[in-house]
Amino acid sequence: MAEADTPFNRMLAEIYRFIQLECIPAEPEVEENDEIPPPLVRRMGELGLFGHSIPREHGGGGLGTEELARVNMVVSQAAPAFRARFGGNTGIATESLIVDGTPEQKARYLPRMATGELTGCFALTEPEAGSDATALRTSARREGDDYVLNGSKCFITNAPIAGLFTVFARTDPDARGADGVTAFLVERGTPGLATGPAYRKMGQHGSPVGEVHLQDCRVPASAIVGGVPGVGFRTAMKTLNKQRINLAGLCVGPALRLIDEMRRRSASRVQSGQPIGQFQLVQQLIADSITEAHAARALVLQTARKRDRGEDVTMEASMCKLFASEMCGRVADRAVQLFGGSGYIAGNIAEQMYRDVRLFRLYEGTSQIHQLNIAKQLGRLPFDHPDFNMQLEPQA
Ligand SMILES: Cc1cc2nc3c(=O)[nH]c(=O)nc-3n(C[C@H](O)[C@H](O)[C@H](O)COP(=O)(O)OP(=O)(O)OC[C@H]3O[C@@H](n4cnc5c(N)ncnc54)[C@H](O)[C@@H]3O)c2cc1C
Repeated sequence: MAEADTPFNRMLAEIYRFIQLECIPAEPEVEENDEIPPPLVRRMGELGLFGHSIPREHGGGGLGTEELARVNMVVSQAAPAFRARFGGNTGIATESLIVDGTPEQKARYLPRMATGELTGCFALTEPEAGSDATALRTSARREGDDYVLNGSKCFITNAPIAGLFTVFARTDPDARGADGVTAFLVERGTPGLATGPAYRKMGQHGSPVGEVHLQDCRVPASAIVGGVPGVGFRTAMKTLNKQRINLAGLCVGPALRLIDEMRRRSASRVQSGQPIGQFQLVQQLIADSITEAHAARALVLQTARKRDRGEDVTMEASMCKLFASEMCGRVADRAVQLFGGSGYIAGNIAEQMYRDVRLFRLYEGTSQIHQLNIAKQLGRLPFDHPDFNMQLEPQA
């Protein structure tokens, strides 16, 4: 059935063309140079990709969760580094501001982030605080009307190129865990803020990730997100909750792309006198992959709709992130298998995606952290909860 002719579907079709005709052909160049070509970054801005999740009154597209999920499933059909270029601005790097920022902070930053003029990053992780981000040690000491930040952040996406840093620091040295953590907006150029070079990584070449160092970095109290100290961890969790659905959508695109590549290869590669796609064991690799990709897509869209209705999706968001990222890893592994030796050689799409998608199971909560969260959230639900009880028939 053809998609309805709506403004959203027209926009999605335009993004699809951009991905297919401009991004995918540029993949080898990005892999080689470790950079998204500036003309493509400009095109991303023209297409509104930097601002999809930013409210319309601040220059963004104001997309809902389901719409954003659908965009993510399209943009991630190209190498994930393309999406990472604008993904912070339409994800974790703006969400703290959108949910908890003051009107002045939103007006100052969001319009420039929506166009891509200003790139943001979300600086939570530290060398000693990864899965347990509440262990963060970066400090923010109050001095008059200012705060003085000291500490280091690691593995921060877009840190080497960002103009705005959402930095999580402890304002109450006596508080433990999530208490006493505050989110600050720190602009590049602020004395005391420095970034390291981009790491050399396993995959996602073209997506710069690096460290952020804060040494006696002085910012005014007005740099606190929302103006309220001590609630930064809650802000971070609100941001990450939404991002889990985004990320799960981003795992669907590479799987669909690889399934397409597997189909083509299985039709063209001949062994024992027939296309390998004639072998049932090869068919199984594709059948399992498409089944799992559809299951992930359905779960992501169902969860996104539930969130758009204003319902709590804390558990489902973790389920999406866990299932979709693990699914994507399995599909990439099968793609390498189907391509045989060629799938292990640099320049092959299965080889590249296998490395690129490995990250999805690690960041924004490892699979283990999401398993724990799902179990915790499920434990809070009453046994007769309509979504999760085990009754096959409704009770009379
Ligand atoms: C390329 C890249 C980009 C990133 N971008 C960002 C970013 O933009 N901003 C940001 O703040 N962070 C970012 N991160 C950091 C990322 O979110 C962390 O790497 C991730 O949360 C895991 O933390 P860790 O690396 O310290 O691993 P650890 O927490 O040390 O975990 C190591 C292993 O122990 C397991 N483990 C840990 N705790 C538990 C537990 N309680 N129960 C069971 N198992 C456990 C983990 O699942 C994992 O297998 C990025 C990381 C990478 C690699």
